[in-house]
Amino acid sequence: MTSRSSPWPAALLAAKLLAWYDCERRDLPWRAPPGERMAPYRVWLSEIMLQQTTVATVGPYFEEFLRRWPALSDLAAAPLDDVLHAWQGLGYYARARNMLRCAQEVMEKHNGVFPQAESALLRLPGIGPYTAAAIAAIAFDHPATILDGNVERVIARLRMVETPLPAAKPELHQLAAEITPAKRPGDYAQAIMDLGATVCTPKKPACVRCPWQGACRAHAAGVAPTLPRRTPKPERPLRHGVAFWAVRGDGQILLRRRPEKGLLGGLMEVPTSEWRDIPWQTSAARRQAPAKSSWRKLPGMVSHGFTHFRLEITVLAAKVDGRAAIDGVWCPPERFAEHALSTLSKKIIRHAQLGG
Ligand code: SF4
Repeated sequence: MTSRSSPWPAALLAAKLLAWYDCERRDLPWRAPPGERMAPYRVWLSEIMLQQTTVATVGPYFEEFLRRWPALSDLAAAPLDDVLHAWQGLGYYARARNMLRCAQEVMEKHNGVFPQAESALLRLPGIGPYTAAAIAAIAFDHPATILDGNVERVIARLRMVETPLPAAKPELHQLAAEITPAKRPGDYAQAIMDLGATVCTPKKPACVRCPWQGACRAHAAGVAPTLPRRTPKPERPLRHGVAFWAVRGDGQILLRRRPEKGLLGGLMEVPTSEWRDIPWQTSAARRQAPAKSSWRKLPGMVSHGFTHFRLEITVLAAKVDGRAAIDGVWCPPERFAEHALSTLSKKIIRHAQLGG
């Protein structure tokens, strides 16, 4: 027996997990009833939404997207603004832009039908190795190996992989592939994700309820909660910016669209300065303002975390002459909800409305 092998053969592991899934599967809005296969559009939509987001958050968004765009062709024809607006609150807006591009590409290049092969799925915008494998497995019942955070945790414990993540990923992928069955691979993919989400949880795995307890090396060694190990992430750098709360005589506020490419691309925002490594002096920040006025600094600041850096924003407020030529649109505060605003801008708005 090798150091990673278990007392159970792969076929037994798969059979035990599938039997457990048949009784314990989660009832999720995007799931097909037992014995039926999910439509590729639903699998794709749910998997894109679930990237970096919890199941509980995604549920209402998934249902709203399906209500507005019941078929892929409906979504492909939607204006980007509408999609970004419906996406508000899910974060990582590049996913929404790629989602629309992907829908359009499937309509144009694949006659509106998702390709089945992982290699072809991988060529579509916004579809990485995990999502391609999830679609291939769940929508087309191909024996593709999925490896999300849940699966990494389960496999690391089952086989007691002590190499820290992310270095352990290739090994975990190979170990996961060895168990993936040829029969019912779509159900198996959902079963192992469910096991990680509901039983083999990060802090307190409920091993007594686990169909793999008798084969699990980390459980036998009493170290399950310590796995998987992770290489500590370096501290995210801190950047600084200034937001300009420009108020017109009639109380309307200046909003601006961010460039299509880049972070928060295409979203509306309260205009901000460049974001940089050193804090802004108010005098220097004023030179970046969208209009000349007597900008005054509001007390406090807005903090926001992006994946790769943290951001601190000070807010300058001023009354601005609405007749001046200014890049942006004027919007009454009661109509902010009609715009696709980033979470950062919503924080800035709250901060400004409370007077800092
Ligand atoms: Fe996870 Fe415990 Fe099951 Fe092992 S026995 S896979 S640690 S829940």
